Amino acid sequence: MRHSPPLTSDALDADSGSPAAEAPAATAEDHRTSTTQRIVDAITTAIVERRLMPGTKLAEQPIADIFKVSRTLVRQALMQLSRDRLITLEPARGAFVAQPSVEEARQVFVVRQMLETALVRQLATRITPTQVEELRAHLVAEREAVLRTDVPGRTRLLADFHVVLARLLGNEVLAQLLADLLSRSSLISLMYQSSHSAEHSQDEHVAIVEALARHDADAAAALMEHHIGSVERNLSLNPRIHDLVSALAPSAG
Ligand SMILES: [Zn+2]
Repeated sequence: MRHSPPLTSDALDADSGSPAAEAPAATAEDHRTSTTQRIVDAITTAIVERRLMPGTKLAEQPIADIFKVSRTLVRQALMQLSRDRLITLEPARGAFVAQPSVEEARQVFVVRQMLETALVRQLATRITPTQVEELRAHLVAEREAVLRTDVPGRTRLLADFHVVLARLLGNEVLAQLLADLLSRSSLISLMYQSSHSAEHSQDEHVAIVEALARHDADAAAALMEHHIGSVERNLSLNPRIHDLVSALAPSAG
């Protein structure tokens, strides 16, 4: 069960016009759920902000100590993260930050292109002036993070932009799907080193918001398709050097 989108910072939540937080948890069951969610959110944020690298082992006891909770709650959090494909659970070895394959990476970007071009197309027809202002405020925060080379901040804000668009459409199912896909995209960019710069992404976000402000659905969709495509094209997804054998024997294939 999810209580908050993993990608959105507290500051953004306060500004984004998302539904008000739920009433304080009253029961032990609620408390367990929110503790699990807190661990899930913390690990997701660390992955998105590139503080936890692909393949890192996530041992239960140190995590339990950090959060001052039982290993049972840590295990529940790790189970949820594995359902979200951010970590893998290996029998007898434990939990590791996931290392998405080239094929999985391609599929994630294809799905994002499908969902997000349709998203901005719809949003362009109904976006309000207040929502445009909200997006522009987000762009300012992105720009500031890019200019001060705040890598965790800009990585999170650039990913959040896409989730904020879904939330503006008022579709929580889509917002949650995108939050999950964006976390996976972040892991993919970390593994495959996109050369698409943060500055370039930020410029493309500005162009998308301007098209939305003009209610130009075709332009917004085309810009979004190009934006996600250029992030993907700039990943070094070269299947020929994906494994050790083919990397060391390039002439064999
Ligand atoms: Zn983007």
